[in-house]
Amino acid sequence: MKILVINCGSSSLKYQLIDSETENVLAKGLCERIGIEGGSLTHQAAGKEKITLKKEMPEHTTAVQMVIEALTDKEHGVIASLDEIGAVGHRIVHGGEKFAGSVIITKEVVQAIEECCDLAPLHNPANLIGIRSCEEIMPDVPQAAVFDTAFHQTMPEKAYLYGLPYEYYEKYKVRRYGFHGTSHDFVSARAAAMLGKDRNDLRIIVCHLGNGASISAVKYGKSVDTSMGLTPLEGLIMGTRCGDLDPAIVGFIGEKEHLSYQEMSDVMNKKSGVLGMSGISSDFRDLGEAAAAGNERAKMTLEAYAYRAAKYIGAYTAAMGGVDVIAFTAGVGENNCAVRSMIGSYLEFLGTTIDEEKNSLRGEELILSTPESRVCVMVVPTNEELAIARETLRLVCERR
Ligand code: ADP
Repeated sequence: MKILVINCGSSSLKYQLIDSETENVLAKGLCERIGIEGGSLTHQAAGKEKITLKKEMPEHTTAVQMVIEALTDKEHGVIASLDEIGAVGHRIVHGGEKFAGSVIITKEVVQAIEECCDLAPLHNPANLIGIRSCEEIMPDVPQAAVFDTAFHQTMPEKAYLYGLPYEYYEKYKVRRYGFHGTSHDFVSARAAAMLGKDRNDLRIIVCHLGNGASISAVKYGKSVDTSMGLTPLEGLIMGTRCGDLDPAIVGFIGEKEHLSYQEMSDVMNKKSGVLGMSGISSDFRDLGEAAAAGNERAKMTLEAYAYRAAKYIGAYTAAMGGVDVIAFTAGVGENNCAVRSMIGSYLEFLGTTIDEEKNSLRGEELILSTPESRVCVMVVPTNEELAIARETLRLVCERR
């Protein structure tokens, strides 16, 4: 079956068409500037050259229409008609406490996702528009919702409750939800498979280090804690997000700088993290180059980044009563040997030794630790689109 995986943002739409039998990506692409002047679609069919089409996309339905046209195009397409798409899988950011797993989309599911908009005002409305656009264009094709939060719904109360009056949890559902769940699930399962072991026998710490970054504790197959919280702002220092702060800082800086909460939120989400700390870039390649050229702030930023990540690994080791596997994934985790090595240097107390020669490789499945290491340290490339396609296939087959 050919499955269209859609990740719909407020002004963008990423897609992949995946053949569920071979798990090959037949085509992928990105619509940008939806609803903003200067729209464009970048599309690439496997084995063909990348093309860019400039066209205004006043709303998401036009974008979905353009994706279908690109997929069925005689020259750049990969399918003869819409009928070849067997199902659509949507990445949905927030499922609140309502969804502990993926589901086939029904009217009730749409309503429940709507009810979670409060918790992810930037993401869920865009995800819903993606669903509605696909329904409009492909009314008979089953659609599935795969939630970023679902895998972490197994966290116990002691991990998800904040030290706030309990009524805020009761009234507004203010608690830790965690994100990147599809990736933490996929990577922990793959790490166990690479070792020829059952995930249910392992305590795994997954370090998803991309632009957005989070660490999770996966104990015997279940997420028991994760660094992101009510929103994806908590936890690690990220590309442009600050991660953990003393909550009093928000009011303190807001007052000094005369910033509204919205403006302060912008600072914390878009101008902080390694970008704000270094004053150079949110991209770790630029930071690495600057540090190598002797830039002290770049060095300090990378050190702070690695230190924060190592602290979470220590915390989650305690949370699980030990750790068997530490798996690095996403852009930085898969490719940045220097960051992995800096984090690894804190982990010797766990009896962890990293083979620096293996650590110099990147972008592939790897075991970085030496055979004597008490904890297995690995690189496991994530593939959220494939995970969504697998979930969609499973649900569609179960329904039959
Ligand atoms: P997103 O959260 O946007 O999906 P990614 O997982 O793609 O983010 O991660 C983006 C980060 O990965 C960037 O900071 C980038 O510097 C880093 N990265 C990607 N490729 C490399 C590489 N070859 N070497 C070092 N860092 C890399």
